[in-house]
Amino acid sequence: MAHDFDLFVIGGGSGGVRAARIAAGHGARVAIAEEYRFGGTCVIRGCVPKKLLVYASRFRDEFEDARGFGWTVGPHTFDWATLIANKDREIARLEKIYRSGQVRAGVTVFDERAVLDGPNAVRLVKQGRTVTAAKILIATGGRPNIDVNLPGHEHVITSDDAFQLLQLPKRVVVAGGGYIAVEFACIFHGLGAETTLIYRGEKILRGFDEDMRNELTEEMTKRGIRVLTRDVFSRVEKTSLGLKGHLKGGGTLEADQIMFAIGRSPNSAGLGLDAVGVKTGPAGAIIVDERSCSSVPSIFAVGDVTDRVNLTPVAIREGHSFADREFGGKPWSADYAMIPTAVFSTPEIGTVGLSEADAAARLGDLDIYKSRFRPMKATLSGRDEKTILKLVVDRASQRVVGCHVLGHETAEIVQMAAIAMRMGATKADFDATMALHPSVAEELVTMHERHVPPAEAAE
Ligand code: FAD
Ligand code: NDP
Repeated sequence: MAHDFDLFVIGGGSGGVRAARIAAGHGARVAIAEEYRFGGTCVIRGCVPKKLLVYASRFRDEFEDARGFGWTVGPHTFDWATLIANKDREIARLEKIYRSGQVRAGVTVFDERAVLDGPNAVRLVKQGRTVTAAKILIATGGRPNIDVNLPGHEHVITSDDAFQLLQLPKRVVVAGGGYIAVEFACIFHGLGAETTLIYRGEKILRGFDEDMRNELTEEMTKRGIRVLTRDVFSRVEKTSLGLKGHLKGGGTLEADQIMFAIGRSPNSAGLGLDAVGVKTGPAGAIIVDERSCSSVPSIFAVGDVTDRVNLTPVAIREGHSFADREFGGKPWSADYAMIPTAVFSTPEIGTVGLSEADAAARLGDLDIYKSRFRPMKATLSGRDEKTILKLVVDRASQRVVGCHVLGHETAEIVQMAAIAMRMGATKADFDATMALHPSVAEELVTMHERHVPPAEAAE
C-alpha cells in the first residue's frame, strides 16, 4: 500500500530534526510535526538558553577578579529583563534556522501536535486529519516532573518557567540535587539572588565522582549558596511576602520563587501508544531495541522519550543512526561508551567515564591520580577556590577509565580527553603526551604520583 510519507517524525527537537533531515537526504519522503517550537528542549528551554544564563551569571566573579589584575571596575548593575530579551532574540533566531533547515531538506513541516492513529498512521490534531507513513519516529522528548501530591505545588516553578520569569527573584530556593538544580542554583546566585538549594539525599549530584560532589558543594557554599541536604518540602504556601516552604524536617524557607528540578519524565502521555501496542516502561519511556525500534515494527523512538541517556548529543546520534540505517542502507548504532558530560555550575564539572566508586565495583583494583590546586588566575585575583583533576585507571590494563575535572571551562577539557579514552588510551599514553603549558589541562598528562588513600598509606 502506498503511504503519504516514507517517514513521519513526531517532535522537532534534537533527535527528531536530525532524523528527518538525514532521512530526507537519503531520498525519503519525510514529514515532521512540532507542537511548540522547532529546536525542542535543548534550543528553546534547555542547554542553549541555560548556557547563556550561565555566561551571564559568571560576570560577577569576573568583575571581582579584575581588581587583582589592575582593573578598576566602576559600579555595575544587572538587568534581568535585558538578559531575557536578548536570550529570547537568540532563541528565536535559532528556532528559525531549525525550521528552515527542515524545509530546505525537503521535509514537509506541520506546526501542530501529532499523535498515533495506527501502526502506520498519524493524526494531525489541529487539522483533524490523518496521514500515513511507512515508518513513524517518536521523538517527543521529556518534561519536568512536578510533585502533584505536594500541597501548594501550583506555586512552584520548573526550569521551563525559570527562563521566562519577569524578574530575577531576590530570594530563591531550588529543590533537587541533579544537573538542573545545581546549574540553576549557581545561575541565580551568580546573578545576585539569595539562593538556597535543598536536596533530599546526603550529597548533591548522585552518580558523579565523590571528589567532584564534595568539592563542588564546598565551592558553592564558599560562594554563598546555602546547600541544605536530607530534607524536602512538605507544603508550600503563598504569603503576603512571597512563598513559604514548610520542610519535612520541621523548618521553613521563605522565598520569592521556589523552583523544582526533581527530574524529568518521558513525554509519552496522550500519544496513543497503548492503542497501537507500543510498549512503555514504568515511567512512560518507550521501550526500544538497539535499532531504536519499539514493540511495533513500523514505530521507532529516539531521545529523551526512550529515557536511555538524556543528553542532546545522544538524541542527535540516535536520530542520525536511525535515519542512516532505515533510509540510507548504512547500519550503525550510537556508541554509549565514554559519553562526556558537564554540569555547568560555577565552577563547572566535566566528566567522562566511570567514577572511582563505579570503577571499583566493576573493575576491582584501580590506580587513582589526583591533583588539587589553586588555579593560576586565583593567585592574583585572590579568589579562594580550587581546581581538581582526577584520573581513574584500571590497574590491570592501565587504561584510563574515568576523567573528572572541576574548575573553569572544564567541559572543554573533558571533551578532548574523551577522544583518547574512547580509543583506549592508557595512563602511559597520557604521560607520553607533551604538556601544554601553562594550562589546567596539562595536569592530566603530568600526574605521576599515584594517589594513596590514607587507609592504604597507614598499612
Ligand atoms: P526534545 O528536544 O525535548 O524535543 C521534543 C520535541 O517534541 C519538543 O519540541 C516538543 O514540543 C515536541 N513534541 C512533544 N510531543 C509532541 C507531539 N505530540 N506532537 C508534536 N510535537 C511534539 N543536554 C545536554 O546535552 N547538555 C546540556 O547542557 C543540557 N542542558 C539542559 C538544561 C535543561 C534546563 C534541560 C531541561 C535539559 C537539558 N539537556 C541538556 C537535555 C537535553 O535538552 C535533552 O536531552 C534533549 O533536548 C532531548 O532531545 P529530544 O529530541 O529527545 O527531545
Ligand atoms: P536529574 O535526574 O539529574 O536529578 C533529579 C534530582 O531530583 C535528583 O537529585 C533526585 O534525587 C531529585 N529528586 C527526584 N525526585 C524527587 C522528589 N520526589 N523529591 C525531591 N527530590 C527528588 O534531573 P534534572 O531534572 O536535574 O535533569 C534531567 C536530565 O536532563 C538530566 O538527568 C540530564 O540527563 C539532562 N540535563 C543535562 C544537563 C547537562 O548536560 N549539563 C543539564 C540539565 C539537564 P536523587 O539523586 O536522590 O534521586
